[in-house]
Amino acid sequence: MNILVCVKQVPDTKIIKVNPKTNTLDRSSAPAILNPYDAHAVQEAVRLKEIHGGKITVLSMGPPQAKEAIKKCVEIGADEGFLISDRRFAGADTLATSYALYKAVQKLMKQDGGIDLILCGKHAIDGDTGQTGPGIARRLLIPPLTNVIKVAEVNLEDRKIQVHRKIEDGYELIESAIPCLLTVEKEINEVEYSPLPNMLKAARYTPVVWTVDDLDDVDIKQLGLKGSPTIVGKMWPPAKSEGAQILAGDSREQVREAVSIMLQQRELFKVKGGERV
Ligand SMILES: Cc1cc2nc3c(=O)[nH]c(=O)nc-3n(C[C@H](O)[C@H](O)[C@H](O)COP(=O)(O)OP(=O)(O)OC[C@H]3O[C@@H](n4cnc5c(N)ncnc54)[C@H](O)[C@@H]3O)c2cc1C
Repeated sequence: MNILVCVKQVPDTKIIKVNPKTNTLDRSSAPAILNPYDAHAVQEAVRLKEIHGGKITVLSMGPPQAKEAIKKCVEIGADEGFLISDRRFAGADTLATSYALYKAVQKLMKQDGGIDLILCGKHAIDGDTGQTGPGIARRLLIPPLTNVIKVAEVNLEDRKIQVHRKIEDGYELIESAIPCLLTVEKEINEVEYSPLPNMLKAARYTPVVWTVDDLDDVDIKQLGLKGSPTIVGKMWPPAKSEGAQILAGDSREQVREAVSIMLQQRELFKVKGGERV
């Protein structure tokens, strides 16, 4: 089973600061890490490889330092990794990012004799759009199955997969043809501690780097800033709310207390002329 996992190197958003003068992310204020959802995607690929055999390839687009994120994936259990990195990719929005990744996926499909499954994270913790995975699937004309919390079955003979997708009030079980693309939630698995041999392999591993010229039939106009119709107007950190109150007691008492606060102190459900407003 050939599995491809798309991974992104992101700044650790628990730490990163916004530059108040330029309204841009101060990337030097936080270390770069493997997008946490993508670590779960790689771990799921490892689980599927244990059952079905095959190969796990990871693919990333980013600056040269994104090689570190690929090495982290090798630590988790990926077999090989490719980084597409070129100034001509810079300034890409999700449309241009998914186009560039799609071109690299096409090349990998040719050289690997096909890919059975593509895994992505549910979203990247910095950009947070969740658009890249479905964007790649749309271009490849394969089904995108988003918010997956469990891969229930893969039948390589019948070319079918069954997954559980998280929805608002539970989950749904979906069957799809393969190849398809899954975006995964953190609930799908626990990312395990890497075994020592993987750590040693990752330490010595050098990902393959491709530039635009290594990809086939690329329309340069669809790459980078030129291929990006998105305009970011302004960016600011969300306002921090203050005065949180921790309620004591069991959950029933806490709910009673919370409702009482909302009714009295915050004047919700004000009564006007005998009627609730
Ligand atoms: C006008 C504009 C300019 C921008 N310029 C830059 C720039 O110069 N440099 C820059 O780093 N970002 C830039 N960005 C941000 C960039 O568009 C997004 O980071 C990128 O398109 C991915 O979107 P996302 O972060 O929302 O990822 P999501 O769509 O939320 O990611 C979902 C999943 O897709 C996969 N994925 C996402 N991105 C990648 C990737 N790069 N490689 C492999 N897999 C991936 C991962 O599996 C990830 O979990 C720019 C954005 C805009 C709007």
